[in-house]
Amino acid sequence: MVIHLKKGLDENRVSALAAELKAIRLRENGTQVLVTSSSLLQIDPAIELLVDEYFVCRTDIQLASTEYRSSKRLVTVGDLHIGGDLKQTLMIAGPCSVESEPQINTVAEFLVGLGVRMMRAGCFKPRTSPYSFQGLGLKGLELLAHVRENTGLKIITEVKDATHVDAVIEMTDVVQVGAKAMYDHGILNACARSRKPVLIKRGFGSTLQEFVQAAEFVLSGGNENVILCERGIRTFEHKTRFTLDLCGVAYLKEHTNLPIVVDPSHAMGFAYGVPDLARAAMAMGVDGLLIETHPNPKTALSDASQQLDFGEFVALYSSLPMIAKAVGRRMI
Ligand code: PEP
Ligand code: MN
Repeated sequence: MVIHLKKGLDENRVSALAAELKAIRLRENGTQVLVTSSSLLQIDPAIELLVDEYFVCRTDIQLASTEYRSSKRLVTVGDLHIGGDLKQTLMIAGPCSVESEPQINTVAEFLVGLGVRMMRAGCFKPRTSPYSFQGLGLKGLELLAHVRENTGLKIITEVKDATHVDAVIEMTDVVQVGAKAMYDHGILNACARSRKPVLIKRGFGSTLQEFVQAAEFVLSGGNENVILCERGIRTFEHKTRFTLDLCGVAYLKEHTNLPIVVDPSHAMGFAYGVPDLARAAMAMGVDGLLIETHPNPKTALSDASQQLDFGEFVALYSSLPMIAKAVGRRMI
C-alpha cells in the first residue's frame, strides 16, 4: 500500500507511524510517502486521520504500478526526456564495449552525424567466461567522459558490481544495471541513494514481477528516475540467443508507470534479426530502443555476432520514423 500523508504532520508522529506500519519512508514532490507491504490491505481508522490519500496495490509492484500512478513517469536526462506522455522513442546506440579511443570516437562521430543523442558502451563487462575481454574499466569510463564533453552525446554505461557503481554514477548520464546485475542489492541501493537515471535490464531468468520489484528497490529508496529494459529471456529455444519477450513489454506498458526500453540486440544475438525486432518494438510504442553498433562487428571484443555495422544501422535507423509516425510517435 502506498500512503500519502497529510502535510504538516509532526516528525515524531510520522516516524512512529512508519515504525508501526513497518513502512519505507520517502518523499515525492514534497509529499511524505509511506510504502508498506502489499499484504496490508486496509488501514486502521485511527491512522486514516493522518492520511491524505492511499493506494492499494495487489502485489509488491507498488510505486511502479499503474494502480498507484496511472500516468507514465518522465525521466529527464539533461535536455532529453524519456517516458511521460511525450510519445517519443529515444534511440540509444553504440558498441557493446568501449575497446579503444579510436573505436569509441569513430562510433560517436557516426552517431552524432545521424542525429542520435545517446550513446551506449560498456566498460565493466559481465562476461560469461573469465577468459573473454572484461572491458577497459575506469579507463573506458574516462574515454566515455571525453566523448560526452566533445560531442554532447548523453552516455549510458553498465555497472557490473557494487565496487565501481559510484564511479559509474558520477561519470555517466544514465546507469545501466545489467541483466546479470539486476539482483545486486549493493548496486540497487547505490542507485536508490543517487538521483541519476537508472536503466534496469531484465534478468534473463527473471519473471516480470521480479523485474519490476528490482525497480521498486530503487524507487522506494527515493530515486524516481527508473527505466525498464526488456532484453530477452531464456527459453527452451536455442536457435536465437534469448527470446525477446514482447508479451512482457505489453504487460509492462499496461501495468507499470515506468518508461520502457527494448534491446533487441542482446535478445536476438545475431545482427540479421535485430532490425525486424527493433521495428516490432517501435510499433509497440516503446519509449526507447537500445541497439548495438560497431565500426567492424567481426573484430568486436564482445557480442560480435549481434552488432550492426554502420550500413545496417543506417538502414534500420532510417526505417524507424515512419513506423513511429504510424503509431502516433516520434523518434528522437
Ligand atoms: C550489454 O548491454 O552489453 C549487456 C551486457 O547487456 P545485458 O546485461 O542485457 O546482457
Ligand atoms: Mn553487449
